[in-house]
Amino acid sequence: MGKHSMTEASGSSLSSMPEWYTQGLPHIWLPYSQMKTASAPLAAAHTHNTRITLTDGRELVDGVAAWWTACHGYNHPHIRQAVCQQMETMPHVMFGGMVHEPALRLASRLCAMLPGDLERVFFTDSGSVSVEVAMKMAIQYRLNKGQNKRTKMLAFRGGYHGDTLATMSVCDPEEGMHHLYGAALMEHVISPLPVDEASTAVFLDLLAKHAHELAAIITEPLVQGAGGMLFHAPQTLRTLRKAADDHDVLLILDEIFTGFGRTGTMFACQQAGIVPDIITLSKALTGGTMALAATVARRHVFEAFLSDNPEHALMHGPTFMANPLACACANASLDLFETEPRLQQVQDINTFLTEALEPCRTLPGVKDVRTLGAIGVVELEKINNPDALRQRFIAEGVWIRPFRNIVYLTPAFTIEKQDLRKLTDAIYKVLS
Ligand SMILES: *Cc1c(COP(=O)(O)O)cnc(C)c1O
Repeated sequence: MGKHSMTEASGSSLSSMPEWYTQGLPHIWLPYSQMKTASAPLAAAHTHNTRITLTDGRELVDGVAAWWTACHGYNHPHIRQAVCQQMETMPHVMFGGMVHEPALRLASRLCAMLPGDLERVFFTDSGSVSVEVAMKMAIQYRLNKGQNKRTKMLAFRGGYHGDTLATMSVCDPEEGMHHLYGAALMEHVISPLPVDEASTAVFLDLLAKHAHELAAIITEPLVQGAGGMLFHAPQTLRTLRKAADDHDVLLILDEIFTGFGRTGTMFACQQAGIVPDIITLSKALTGGTMALAATVARRHVFEAFLSDNPEHALMHGPTFMANPLACACANASLDLFETEPRLQQVQDINTFLTEALEPCRTLPGVKDVRTLGAIGVVELEKINNPDALRQRFIAEGVWIRPFRNIVYLTPAFTIEKQDLRKLTDAIYKVLS
């Protein structure tokens, strides 16, 4: 493993690992990991519905659905079939000056599902890039109208919008994972979310003061995910919509985590009855099978780019945008939302989690227990060693990834009762 070795994977010694693991691991740089001290990563061999089987034969119940993506569970036969079929006809073709059925079908289906006149889809291949595209759209919307001073975003404490340079600058500047980069980032306006009278006053004041230099307000609706699964009421979104209108500022909702049923409705903004000017989607868009993201704009945003001036065009175009395989996955995922009772399953998971996590409230060190849709959160005063906690969960046969001060579940909507029980039992046992 080389001299900067990670500690051994829990439960298996390196000598029993397959050759590809011992050969390849010294050449891998893992995400969000101190490579000197992090536990060695598990070796996944195959997956099925909500289970991950490791090369040593151990099986884990996935409590987080592969970073919040695999909403139908792993290896859903309908998605698998769609990918195989697409693979045979056209795995990829460039999207510059050319279109194809999977992308155009997907675009019209997404627009039919989204509220209001969100009707123009720009495809990218990751969530962060879809947010960058949303920010570019908002900035250029102003430029195309001859306003070259309105280039900033108003973003919120607790927010997370991605790991690229531009998206880091709209994440929480202190609590976020990116404060070290401070000096390298663009400066935006960071406000508290308007959740009560005091924070609303601060927000409205910041907005009034900076409106002349703002292109857009950006937030995650109902749940700030990577910020610690922080929930807010639909009223907060109505406050944002009205304030954005009053100051003629665009509203971008980042539904990369909340989109596709996670909070109980297809999109979180529907619970507030508001329509953002731009929305970003990714994570569960393909049912967690392939990398794909979409930035969807309302008609008035798109129309600001229609001009006889070539410079008014949106200058962006990822090489693999609208990859046909990924679009085929997304179409198959949308089929499943139509043919299987996903939103009812979310409701049932919510009922289960609310009841099963409640006993955690009285455990020492527990600060809060909360659920929304298919999200269950146990918030602790503090987690001293998240890595050690993860290892405890692995020993219980579950894949649960505590971060910051929370232990949370975002299971696949197709999870069986007994697997869900295994997850909540493990949380209670380990936290005890
Ligand atoms: C995950 C996430 C992103 C970033 O998506 P990537 O595909 O990891 O780049 C952006 N915004 C929110 C709300 C997310 O949850």
